[in-house]
Amino acid sequence: MRAARFHGLPSGFVPKHGVLSPEQRLVVEEIPRPEPRAGEVLVRTAACGICATDLHYLHGTPTFRSPPVTLGHEISGTVESLGPEVEGIHVGDPVLVPAVVSCGQCIPCRTGRDNICERMTMFGNHRDGGFAEYVTAPAAYVVPLPEGLPLVESALVADALSTPFHAVKNRAQVRAGENVAVFGCGGVGLNAVQSAAAFGASVIAVDVSEEKLALAKALGARETLNPAQGEVPKKIRKLTGGGVDAAFEVVGRPDVLQSAFESVRPGGRLVTVGYSEEDWTLRVNRVMFREISIIGSLGCRSAEYPVILKMVREGRLQLAPLISARFRLEEINDALANLEHGKALGRQVAVFGP
Ligand SMILES: [Zn+2]
Ligand SMILES: [Zn+2]
Repeated sequence: MRAARFHGLPSGFVPKHGVLSPEQRLVVEEIPRPEPRAGEVLVRTAACGICATDLHYLHGTPTFRSPPVTLGHEISGTVESLGPEVEGIHVGDPVLVPAVVSCGQCIPCRTGRDNICERMTMFGNHRDGGFAEYVTAPAAYVVPLPEGLPLVESALVADALSTPFHAVKNRAQVRAGENVAVFGCGGVGLNAVQSAAAFGASVIAVDVSEEKLALAKALGARETLNPAQGEVPKKIRKLTGGGVDAAFEVVGRPDVLQSAFESVRPGGRLVTVGYSEEDWTLRVNRVMFREISIIGSLGCRSAEYPVILKMVREGRLQLAPLISARFRLEEINDALANLEHGKALGRQVAVFGP
């Protein structure tokens, strides 16, 4: 089968921000089709979303499995075959494969917080992922797609939609009538916008790209702000009469975290969804005096997938407008370059089949 694999960075290679060099390309190659082991299914990939996390590996964040590893963790497809001891799922079933497999044994798993499992494994990181024609996955973790859900678009539910949905619903616990700001309108941020709007919040979307802000508006943002046109926290405090109830940072940059923090009203919540390896210096006295909650958010609990799929089916959450471009596997490096250069609107997906 064909797979787009990461072979690691050459020793001594120093990645640069905003640039993808030839050394950082995925290699599209022929590898043996995997066999599903006991308890696993083989999924024929229909689509796999292309995420900023994939770029982090190309910039030096190590994958847990040593390269070569097939990247991609936002997968939809159909069940091609079953390994031994698999029940309750059938050949031909349309499924989505959540980004992470949890252990079911640790305390987070046993308390319903399997998204922060202590022994989680992730597709395209600990194990081969979805930039390939086939992928094996534990049968217990794949989520059957209800009738009427489009196979390609549903890939987004595996991460781009589920991650911000969890942040909005479970971590920030956004309620109807609240003011919310979303900093960063990439594939994940736009879904934070539409999730918060779906729960009845008034959403202010923030991004440097007018194109992304226009899409945020189409997905339910009430206001949009571009940092290029003046200081955002000040404008947000003015628009809301003192600050938002909840701000979501979906970029992963200390200066953006700082803006999000300054946009929160006393008693409000700042939720960090973006990934950064840099430190952020925080004025703790402001946190104390204003009783601001700073909340981390990672991935999505498995219990939420049926809820999200139901909301998609009812038209309360959308998938189609989020997909800006479909790429064949051979074009995947072009898609990664778009993402690196901030040119990807919504989510780009790799698609397979006719
Ligand atoms: Zn991702
Ligand atoms: Zn666990």
